[in-house]
Amino acid sequence: FSSLELTQHFLARIDRLDAKLNSFITVTHESALANARSADALRAQGNAGVLTGIPIAHKDIFCTEGVKTSAGSKMLDNFISPYNATVVAQANAAGLVMLGKTNMDEFAMGSSNESSFYGATHNPWALNRVPGGSSGGSAAAVAADLAPFATATDTGGSIRQPAAFCGLTGLKPTYGRVSRFGMIAYASSLDQGGPIARSAEDCAYLLQVMAGHDAKDSTSVDHPTEDYVAGITTTTNPDKPLQGLRIGLPHQYIKDGLDADVKARVLDALKVLEDLGATLVEINLTTSDAAIPAYYLIAPSEASSNLSRYDGVRFGHRCENPKDLMDLYTRSRTEGFGDEVQRRILIGTYALSEGYYDAYYLKAQKVRRLIQNDFLKAFEQCDVIAGPTAPTAAYAIGAKQDPVAMYLGDIYTIAVNLAGLPAISAPVGFDTSYSGHDNCAPLPVGLQLIGPYWSESKLLSIIHQYQ
Ligand code: GLN
Repeated sequence: FSSLELTQHFLARIDRLDAKLNSFITVTHESALANARSADALRAQGNAGVLTGIPIAHKDIFCTEGVKTSAGSKMLDNFISPYNATVVAQANAAGLVMLGKTNMDEFAMGSSNESSFYGATHNPWALNRVPGGSSGGSAAAVAADLAPFATATDTGGSIRQPAAFCGLTGLKPTYGRVSRFGMIAYASSLDQGGPIARSAEDCAYLLQVMAGHDAKDSTSVDHPTEDYVAGITTTTNPDKPLQGLRIGLPHQYIKDGLDADVKARVLDALKVLEDLGATLVEINLTTSDAAIPAYYLIAPSEASSNLSRYDGVRFGHRCENPKDLMDLYTRSRTEGFGDEVQRRILIGTYALSEGYYDAYYLKAQKVRRLIQNDFLKAFEQCDVIAGPTAPTAAYAIGAKQDPVAMYLGDIYTIAVNLAGLPAISAPVGFDTSYSGHDNCAPLPVGLQLIGPYWSESKLLSIIHQYQ
């Protein structure tokens, strides 16, 4: 195929199917076709890289020069970014052709994509179900074959959980592996970009483009990147490619509240990994219950600070006819931010305020360190840690009205961000208990593997052997 044919193919699918899915906020037809033509010209000159001319979708949290960048919020509905995020610049440099910008929970706050100003995204496996969040648009687009792969971000599970809900592979890299420059900030000490794709191999190709040190992001780490693609294709022992690998299974992960089908699929997948040569070790992660409370203090605290820049003055939504400065701030922010974002700003402002800081924010930071130490201790006994990505498969749109019920669904993903570790989610079969009672198709289930710092290649390789 030429890049033009490929790009036209995906644009036509978006035009035909996305009215039902709502996975894109913006589709960049014209620039995509123009870039595809340029990619074909480069190919004709013999000047093409391996990804030159391959289409991609970017989560609408990454700034794209000259293209609306909304972060799923009314606040940025009128924002045309004047510059590219580093991730986008790197994708362009690799010759990838942007199809458009994908739907997401507002400012990446959510687990279901329902908090988007642009409306919920529908799960392609069952249209009445959520695709997960906050990168639900990226996941739904890839799952419905509207794009071959997509960029995403993960502050507390937003790459892995939508990948799990949509039957895809998603990788959250080590904190600092992927530049946050031009990635609209939610909780800066937790946010990390990464790929969502159909396989570990495709994730490796995209990570190769996204990873690397960036002087424009002070939290980007100057740690050598690996050849992620070469890394997953080398195996020394084809019969037992995972010989010697110790997989830790925390007994805290297999407990009440975990859906029976999800548990069964995860345990089945672990058996397959054992057949491939791995050994299972039971481990103890004593801090696992502390992750949700610590995260839901730290993330809103950082968000309340990051979102103070949306003041109605410099950019973004501005209310009509403000009476005075206070009225301008108040009404612009009240109109521009949705309910969940306002809830997080209130929680964060409260937790950081004088008299409460020590009791909440500081305490949460101490718990964060204990969680990190807990993982580091566990990695003395095993090479990777396995478990479910989410306690259930995708739920119905509208089913989780209570914010706390929504937060509890992040139980398996958020500790990883608090510790800054890399983790991958991969599809391991289906939850079939849903079919039957609401005429819904079987829903995908995800296995999560968590690795030590900088173990992206290892995580991709293990999943590649499984796939
Ligand atoms: N669900 C979590 C939250 O709402 C994580 C979201 C994310 O990773 N961006 O904060």
